[in-house]
Amino acid sequence: MADGKKSGGSAPPLSGVAPRLGDLLRAPTGPVDLSAIDTAGTPGFTGAGKADAKSLAKPIGRQLAELQEMLYAEGRAGGRRSLLLVLQGMDTAGKGGTVKHVLGLVSPMGVHYHGFCKPTVEEREHHFLWRVRRQLPPPGIIGVFDRSHYEDVLVVRVHHLVPDEEWSGRYDVINRFEAELAGSTRIVKCFLHISADEQRNRLRSRLDDPAKYWKYNPDDVTERTFWADYQRAYSDVLDRCNTEAAPWFIVPADHKWYRDWAISQLLGEQLRAMALSWPTAVDWDPDQERARLDGDQP
Ligand code: AMP
Ligand code: MG
Repeated sequence: MADGKKSGGSAPPLSGVAPRLGDLLRAPTGPVDLSAIDTAGTPGFTGAGKADAKSLAKPIGRQLAELQEMLYAEGRAGGRRSLLLVLQGMDTAGKGGTVKHVLGLVSPMGVHYHGFCKPTVEEREHHFLWRVRRQLPPPGIIGVFDRSHYEDVLVVRVHHLVPDEEWSGRYDVINRFEAELAGSTRIVKCFLHISADEQRNRLRSRLDDPAKYWKYNPDDVTERTFWADYQRAYSDVLDRCNTEAAPWFIVPADHKWYRDWAISQLLGEQLRAMALSWPTAVDWDPDQERARLDGDQP
């Protein structure tokens, strides 16, 4: 720390917070029974509820912003590291809300966001990871994937968009890709876990408010009929691609306030684990520069 004022990298976790939320939310090893994980749960949150979680947003945000700035500074100083937050979940699970409320706490200068839609004609001509590699965060940057390469073993599997032999080989391809990426990029994968009932409520609220029409897609109601297939596909993703290099976290997401609190907390933990520090090795002498500045008359 250069000036002793900024201390986010070594700041203790805020009170009301479990020692490591990541340990509580980490997907278990082996097959995952998603129906046994409470979508309305609030693991690790020791406050009273929504109001408490919201009041923590400001101090957590201050810490996050500082950690992110350290990462950015490291990148500017020639460091190679970055962080990639992968957000997956059913429609309305809150991927967009997370981007707004969690990534909104840090400087947009240090964030690269990308939403993965249905592949374009050009993208379909390439390997499924082609479009993903092009969106990876450069050094110093927090990358956010709103959907990701996992769609290639989720929607693609559920709707039989490619033969079974093809998608079923992708788990290993993804693991290898992520293991290689992890050399420079800290990968944090969050599955936003909502219930089918909560999804219905959220879709209905979009229908009830014209200001939310833009978020509504009639296809989402069709997709709901494949709920069980998606849960199975997610369960396999969580089982087969939950590696040490690129772990999955299961975030109960029926409560938006918990989701935002948990992901901001998790992101802070992950950044702290990178042991970031302000880059102070410079090729100029601060004393000399101070003297030059003092003697300078514009
Ligand atoms: P949204 O997240 O609401 O903007 O919707 C994006 C849509 O793109 C979702 O319906 C995804 O299932 C779909 N999508 C994303 N990636 C793929 C993919 N690799 N293949 C087919 N559909 C995809
Ligand atoms: Mg959608």
